Amino acid sequence: MELPRTADIVIIGGGVMGASTVYHLSARGKKNILLLEKEQFFGQGASGRCAGGVRYQFSTEINIRLSLISLPMLERFEQEVGQKINYRQCGYLIMLTSPDQVDEFVPNVRLQRSLGVQTEWLSGDEIRKLLPMMILDDIRAGTFHDKDGLVDPNSVVIGYINAAKREGAATISGVEITAIEVLDGRIVSVGTSAGKISTPLVVNAAGPWAGLVGRMAGLEIPITPLRRQMLTTTPLTTIPEDFPFVIDFSQSLYFHLEGGGLLTGMSNPNEHPGFDQEIDPSWELVHLEAATARMPILENAGMLSHWAGLYENTPDAHPILGMTPIEGFYVCAGFSGHGFMHGPVAGKIISEIILDGSATSVDVSMLDLARFESGQLIKEYNVI
Ligand SMILES: Cc1cc2nc3c(=O)[nH]c(=O)nc-3n(C[C@H](O)[C@H](O)[C@H](O)COP(=O)(O)OP(=O)(O)OC[C@H]3O[C@@H](n4cnc5c(N)ncnc54)[C@H](O)[C@@H]3O)c2cc1C
Repeated sequence: MELPRTADIVIIGGGVMGASTVYHLSARGKKNILLLEKEQFFGQGASGRCAGGVRYQFSTEINIRLSLISLPMLERFEQEVGQKINYRQCGYLIMLTSPDQVDEFVPNVRLQRSLGVQTEWLSGDEIRKLLPMMILDDIRAGTFHDKDGLVDPNSVVIGYINAAKREGAATISGVEITAIEVLDGRIVSVGTSAGKISTPLVVNAAGPWAGLVGRMAGLEIPITPLRRQMLTTTPLTTIPEDFPFVIDFSQSLYFHLEGGGLLTGMSNPNEHPGFDQEIDPSWELVHLEAATARMPILENAGMLSHWAGLYENTPDAHPILGMTPIEGFYVCAGFSGHGFMHGPVAGKIISEIILDGSATSVDVSMLDLARFESGQLIKEYNVI
């Protein structure tokens, strides 16, 4: 497809945020929209490398409210967008090992229930009974919500892209944005690897690269890339089909069923910020040792695949959504390692901010870029 020379809106990034944004703008009848992705295929950034987990269990009201809209959008996805996404409601089980952790989670569960999310408490013994294939002697308690689960990330990205195309949007991969021209405080054009495009409006949906894109417009957007890696195993017949998304919170170690085997990941607390997406073999050994200590049957499994991707962390682990001091420059990024599940609602919100002047689905005014200057940060403790 030939690159247009003008567009009413240019969206930078073909991950879940860009894809959802282009879909929601197109579905509202907006024409002359262009989404550009630097890689050869859409969804090759964080979205295509993520674990696909979707949950209601968060510790802040805004994240729970985003899930309360976004996850039902995923439930209706096939009907609305026309793409199967394999939503499996296996539940998230967050396991806690210390009395302090249990105390920390008490207000989280209270908040979730006050908003209609019926998270349950399970005792250590109940968890041990539920997961006999795991070594869980030190688990004191856990929280479980049966509507949390898993969705196929690539299907969501491609579903939104294809639906937006059917509505007339242009979505082009293999074209990198290299510059953003601002004149008298307003967006006027973007420079790309395939030439210049005049436009009054740009959405920065560049995920872990959103800080770099911000700098092209002369704006500091505090988003730090941080490597995270995971692996999948060959099939393990002893894992039951209703095995939940299990998280050992103190080790940031997780497991879920994937293609008959397990997908497991563990966050390295000493990872340095950067764009490296190569596997760190030494951390993989630490991870495998911890995973096998919890789940000895892993010794009988082979490694099927492994990969690394980038979290897109903000200082308060909450996204940046909305306008910036530059007229026509919007941000939809910084979801800090749990953004895939909020992609549907985030794109809808950005479309409302652009077309209606403010978000009507959820009040996201506290997620603006200005909070970092005014110091009004929000804290999310359920980061895995
Ligand atoms: C290992 C791992 C596990 C995760 N697990 C989960 C999970 O279980 N559940 C969950 O909800 N979230 C999870 N996440 C987080 C989730 O993947 C992200 O929050 C989400 O995918 C962010 O989407 P995005 O569209 O903002 O970013 P991306 O998917 O990275 O998309 C941004 C796109 O912008 C493109 N781009 C960048 N710069 C330019 C440019 N200059 N020009 C053109 N294109 C550009 C990139 O190539 C990229 O495709 C995980 C992340 C990782 C890394």
